[in-house]
Amino acid sequence: MKVQIENNTRSLKKEELDSFSSYVAKAFELISCAKYIDKRIAGSDAELSVDVKFVGEDRIRELNNAHRGLDKVTDVLSFPILDMVDGKLSSDLMPYDYSYQDGIKILPCGDIVICVKRAASQAEEYGHSLQRELVFLAVHSFLHLMGFDHEDPKTEKNMFSKQEDVMESIGLPRDPASNAPSTEISSEDRYQVGQILPHCGYCALIGRPNVGKSTLLNAISGMKLAIVSHKPQTTRNNISAIYNREDAQVIFVDTPGIHTPKSKLSEFMVDSSFRAAKGADVVVLMVDGRFGKPASVEKKAVESAKKLKKPMILVVNKADAVSKESLLPLIANYSQLADFEDIVPISALKEDGIDQLMDIIISKLPSQPRFFPGDEITDQSEREIAAELIREQILHYTNEEIPHGTAVEIDAFEEEMREDALDSYDRSLIKIHASIICERDSHKSILLGKNGQMIKRIGTAARKNIEEMTDCKVFLDLHVKVRKDWKNRQVFLDEFGYKKKED
Ligand code: GDP
Ligand code: MG
Repeated sequence: MKVQIENNTRSLKKEELDSFSSYVAKAFELISCAKYIDKRIAGSDAELSVDVKFVGEDRIRELNNAHRGLDKVTDVLSFPILDMVDGKLSSDLMPYDYSYQDGIKILPCGDIVICVKRAASQAEEYGHSLQRELVFLAVHSFLHLMGFDHEDPKTEKNMFSKQEDVMESIGLPRDPASNAPSTEISSEDRYQVGQILPHCGYCALIGRPNVGKSTLLNAISGMKLAIVSHKPQTTRNNISAIYNREDAQVIFVDTPGIHTPKSKLSEFMVDSSFRAAKGADVVVLMVDGRFGKPASVEKKAVESAKKLKKPMILVVNKADAVSKESLLPLIANYSQLADFEDIVPISALKEDGIDQLMDIIISKLPSQPRFFPGDEITDQSEREIAAELIREQILHYTNEEIPHGTAVEIDAFEEEMREDALDSYDRSLIKIHASIICERDSHKSILLGKNGQMIKRIGTAARKNIEEMTDCKVFLDLHVKVRKDWKNRQVFLDEFGYKKKED
């Protein structure tokens, strides 16, 4: 990233300029990483280059008039060169898009022109430093160069949350006590400009298998990626989904379900559920509304959660499958077990009561900056998600007994690159060889189905989802293997990633 700064005013001191350029270099670097913008740009062999000019009021008025037909002073103007929409290139880069400077290949993306005087008066008005205002305007404008816009309310949110994320990451968050969002950023929602800190934190969703945890997470995120992982060896606290709203970020930590420990696998699951709960800000216990009496598993779960002294919310799922009256004894029974902050009946399947549940969860989270950028969904690798997407289809197409006795192992994940690939994401094909491991021969024949129909169906559906996730054509080769009693054999558990972690 090459940022060239030209100062055409006398109002900025050298230290101010130096500090501006170091902040801006950091900020632009963050924006131009692959997470925010087209990977072809981020991974290009040329250095992205941008020019920032500081001008006075007369000059910016002149430019504003010439380019936008507005004969008035403004704070910042952006002059994009590349054809981009929402951080994505609209067409492929051509040789003439590049140029050379001092022997370095560069990719110019445009000019940013900032009126220092106007910035100074805005800074004063909002009650923060000129430094922050200048950097903020540069970041805002650079996002414009990258094709982000705030014309449409939809794209506006995206742009504003990015810009605040970046400002926060470089250590220039908006002072919560400052007066007002800038007039340029005419958003009605003050959260969008980061004036008020969002409610942000970790939520552990616990409950025995089949109560509907995955269904809830899918409903919440509306995204294929947000599925419950049964492989809790992912890097950061076993995150299964990140829910973003303008005023909140809820990070769901993966809890594979509470069992009465019967085999080593379920022992492990109980263990990891509570490890997740330990690190959480709020614990949500989900139960099936069709079964009114808490069993020993739920009692134990409640006891353990109580010891952690976390706010606990009881979610009674599958409310669609029972009458309202029949929920009353259930609620009474559970109320005796613990002092729940709230008891919320929902239907994850019909997506009933979910907004209300999210509001309640969010109200229990501390006010603090987001932990993850607004567009992050999970932290799992593509390989792990691919395995999960296959598992998801096994769950979808087979009955309960099979999925709980299966694991998916990715044997090979090979990427073929495009001939003109600019970076490692420029793939033409991903070849995945995966094995479905089951416990019995009878399970294997169910998984294969008549004439291999079942595995074909699972494979086709999983492949489509993996293609959607990777944005690339996928070849998926599935095999079914039987490993008797694998759930009890630690070697296999290790092999499939069910590694017990030490605290
Ligand atoms: P998990 O093991 O806790 O993750 O449970 P799943 O989300 O996999 O759901 C288990 C089963 O319950 C699936 O067949 C779901 O379709 C079903 N299910 C989940 N939520 C609801 C609901 O609100 N109502 C009804 N009737 N069924 C549900
Ligand atoms: Mg599940």
